[in-house]
Formats: sequence, C-alpha cells, structure tokens
Amino acid sequence: MHSPALKVLFLAAEAHPFVTAGGLGEVAYALPRALRALANETEEPMDIDVRLVIPYHAVVKEKGFKPQLVSSFQVAHVEGPIPAQAYHLDLDGVPVYLIDGPPFPAESAPIYAPDASLDGHKFTFFSLAALELARQLDWQPDVLHANDWHTSPAIYALWMQRRKDGFLSKIASLLGLHNLPYLGVGAGAAMNAFGLPPADDSELPWWAKNMPLPLGLLTADHIVAVSPTYAQEILTPEFGSGLEDFLNTRAASISGILNGLDLDDWNPEKDPEVKTNFSLGSLEKRKRNKTSLQAEFELEKEPRTPLLVMITRLDHQKGVDLALDALLQVADKPWQTILLGTGQPELENAARRLEADLPGKVRAAILYNKAVSRRIYAGADMSLIPSRYEPCGLTQMISMRYGCVPVARSTGGLRDTIQDYTLSERSTGFLFQAATPEALAGALRRALHVYNDPQRWGTIQQRAMQQDFSWKRSARQYANLYLQLMKQHKA
Ligand code: ADP
Repeated sequence: MHSPALKVLFLAAEAHPFVTAGGLGEVAYALPRALRALANETEEPMDIDVRLVIPYHAVVKEKGFKPQLVSSFQVAHVEGPIPAQAYHLDLDGVPVYLIDGPPFPAESAPIYAPDASLDGHKFTFFSLAALELARQLDWQPDVLHANDWHTSPAIYALWMQRRKDGFLSKIASLLGLHNLPYLGVGAGAAMNAFGLPPADDSELPWWAKNMPLPLGLLTADHIVAVSPTYAQEILTPEFGSGLEDFLNTRAASISGILNGLDLDDWNPEKDPEVKTNFSLGSLEKRKRNKTSLQAEFELEKEPRTPLLVMITRLDHQKGVDLALDALLQVADKPWQTILLGTGQPELENAARRLEADLPGKVRAAILYNKAVSRRIYAGADMSLIPSRYEPCGLTQMISMRYGCVPVARSTGGLRDTIQDYTLSERSTGFLFQAATPEALAGALRRALHVYNDPQRWGTIQQRAMQQDFSWKRSARQYANLYLQLMKQHKA
C-alpha cells in the first residue's frame, strides 16, 4: 500500500548541475531525487511530489539549459511590484523551476556576494517569488522546505501570511540548516522593503530580530540540521553563533538528519579518475594507487610509509592550522603528507612553509581539482579532518568509501559518521576531542601505531568502506518527518 502522496516545495539558492558553490548545491540536487525514488521502493514505497525551485542565476543561463516559461507574476515591494518569471524543466524526473526577475544581475557574477547585505534583495525576491509560484501553478504543497538564510524569508512570509491566506494556511514549514554562522547579516532592510518587518516582540536576541536566518529559525515549524550532533551543538555557546539561548527555546522542534553521498559519483569500483579501480573484495589493488600517487607528487615510493592527506577548503573552520602544527609534532615518525586545498592566503602560505620545512615528507598542492582529489582518496592511507565545527561533512564519507581512514575531530557530522578506534569492534577511524594540535597529534600517533599492524588496519579500512552513506537512508528520514509535520499542521 502506498502512503498518501505528499507535496513538497523545496527551495535552495543553488543546485547541481545548474550551479554549485558548496554542500547545499549537492543536497538540493540529491535529496529531491532520492525522495522521488522512494516511490520505487518495494518496502514501504512513498509517493512524494517534490519540486525544486532555484534562482535563474546568470551563470545558469550560460549553461544552455532549455527551460520553458510557465508563469509570469509580480512580487510586492515598497517601491512598486517587481515582475517575476518562472521557467520549468524536468531533471531526471524532478520538476525544477527557475525564478528570474530584475533583482538578478544580467551579467554573470558569483552567486553569492562577499557580503550578505548585497544579496538580501535578490534572495528575498526569490523566496517570495517561489512561494507565490505555488499559487500561480495552483499546486498547494503540504510542506515548504527552505534552506539556509537565502530562502528563510519564505518561511517567515509563510508564517506571517498563513493565518489569513487560505492557500498558504495548509502548508507546514521546515528549515534546513547547513551552516548556522551564515545568518544573512545586513539583509534585513531588503526584507523590510518586501513587507517582512523585524520580529520585535520575539525571543530572538535584539541584534538578530531583523536577519533572515534567525527569522526563519523563529518561525519554521521544524528545523533540521544536517547531522544529529550538529543539531545538539548549536544549542551551546561554542557553536550557537550567539543564538544558543534562543535556539534552546526551540529545542523540541530541532532535529538532525545526515546528508548522504552520491554513491554513483563516488565509487572506487568505477571512478574513471582512479588508475586501478578496486572494491571491498579487491582491496590489495589499492596499493597501486598509492604508488602512482607517490609518483605523481614526487614522494618516495615507499609502500609501507603511511600516506596522510588533507583535502579541504583552507579555512579556519577546517582546522588547517591545527593539522600543520600537529604534523610538526609527529615529524619524527615516518609518514608522507599531501595537502590539497585552496582558500585563505595565510593558510595557503602556511601549507607551503610546511612543505619547505619538511621537504621529503610534505607536498602542498594549492589547487582545487576534483580529479586529483579522487586519485588521492583512492591511494592515501589516512585523511586528516580536524574541523573546528562540521555541520555534516562529505570528505570523511568519501574517504571511508575509498578506504582512506579518517582521523577527525569528534564534532558534528564527523562524530555521527566515524566510529573511533577505541570501539574496536565497530571502528571506522580515529576521533579526537579538543580542537588543539596536541589532540590531533595524539590521534595521529594512535593511528600510526595501528597502521603498523596491516591486519588490524585492513579491518578498519574494510569496515569504513562498508558504511551506508546512501541518500536513500536520509530521504526516508526526511519523508517521515514531512509526514509528521503535515499531520501536526493539519490536525
Ligand atoms: P565543505 O562543504 O564545508 O567545504 P565538505 O566536507 O562537506 O566541506 O565538502 C567538501 C568537498 O569539497 C569534498 O567533496 C572535497 O573532496 C571537496 N574538496 C575540497 N577541497 C578540494 C580541492 N582542493 N580539490 C578538490 N576537491 C576539494
């Protein structure tokens, strides 16, 4: 028996393959597909009519998709109504709507300005247009699923209007939280101009009453952080971005669902960039990838020297500085390291300095290159992930799928996806607690010690490769939550 059809309006500022700047774009691509695929499950199939709405950014227009104009309407603004157009196309069974209008610059520009205040106008316009589109299509969703600050104005607008608007009154709302610190600072004035005033008499701290993400967090029926641990961490001063007291008042409506990984894209058996494809059953082949990696990076071809890697944005969040210091602390041990990343100039320079200080051991590859990253995941032994905070994280999931054992800080999604070595029956990696070089160096010493025992190491590798990071699992959790929200809202 099929569960009743459920309609979900899914909003995001970006989505693969149209435009992707980060993890949100991967989620906006993969989750709607996975939700629709639940209809084909043999056990408990669910019909979910999920429709994705994204901005028709100029960079998307340049890519040559051929969407059809399906609706033209207006969005109210203090200076007069602004025309909006919605285009439609079908992407592998997922209906996608692209919203266009004057707030989007005609020339290609980065989809995110360096300062959220410069983006407030276009994303508020987008949020309101996406909500209005549902009415224009006469398609009444059960759930509005918005993501991050850019589409939080849709949550707030829905909350403001649904008491007096029959069409909106039946819609429950869910806010996906991918990165709390991006509050949309400075975008409040643009919201006000679109008729969305500050929430003056709310429980928000005074400084947050006119910011899109806090307003979304205030008025969403439910909040989903991208991992269960991150959902807890945001309630504490260390991770709460100053909103922790307010978020505690909403704790009963906050949960966490891990993102999945695109298992077709990230598949060591088929990855065309990987020189020698391998699987769980042919792990010994993996050694050849290590040798070619050592050759590619002009490191000594030592099969038994542990090869450590870090593939990351070079950013304070990712704890790159901690890793560089920790590597110096364990420099007396035999290992090699490849750092692949781009980002803050001071961290790029620090990585280059470490290469200069430890010439035979360290290679700093200051570039963003997916093909290179694939070869590294497929050949390296350990992946260093000392993030200060990590809402979910993909790097650790990719590493594990490719048999590259994570050595990671026990935070956010890292903690939810990696089992520490002390749980030896279930271990898939090595975790450490404090965000310090010493703590990472300690975990590295443990990992290097275990590495010396190939049998024990092989067991960890194999277990890591067997973890289920499928989107199917996440989609099922979202689907159940949608159903619950729908029932609560309509009760
Ligand atoms: P975040 O989205 O916060 O940067 P994630 O761990 O969720 O961190 O995702 C990072 C993704 O970007 C991973 O797929 C990782 O392989 C990739 N990546 C990061 N830096 C590079 C790089 N320099 N070259 C290629 N891929 C990279």
